[in-house]
Amino acid sequence: MALTKQQTSELQKQLRSERKRILFNIEALHTEFGTSQGEESDENGLETHLGDQGTMTFLRERDLSIEEHEEQLLNEIDAALQRIKDGTYGTCEVDGTPIDFERLQALPWARTHVEHATST
Ligand SMILES: [Zn+2]
Repeated sequence: MALTKQQTSELQKQLRSERKRILFNIEALHTEFGTSQGEESDENGLETHLGDQGTMTFLRERDLSIEEHEEQLLNEIDAALQRIKDGTYGTCEVDGTPIDFERLQALPWARTHVEHATST
């Protein structure tokens, strides 16, 4: 069954609040970065304990992968919001039939039915 206007606007609200949360997270990661990068480009860098540097690198790589993941999600959300505008939202990209409201509630940026999904 196709989505009602009310269902669509509910999902749109969900997408928007998720978008806000992600932007906030990315912002927080950037702030954290600014600090650790400043410390590392210190001219006394050679005196830094190797152990600490290893930890820093590890933390930064972890942050980067989180950020990458969040940015990917942000793209998905933007695309979903665009589909709402275009009126194509909630239609499966594989077979062109409507996606269940329950699936969209769980994953508002879903592009396909759950049975086609392998990685989402
Ligand atoms: Zn499908």
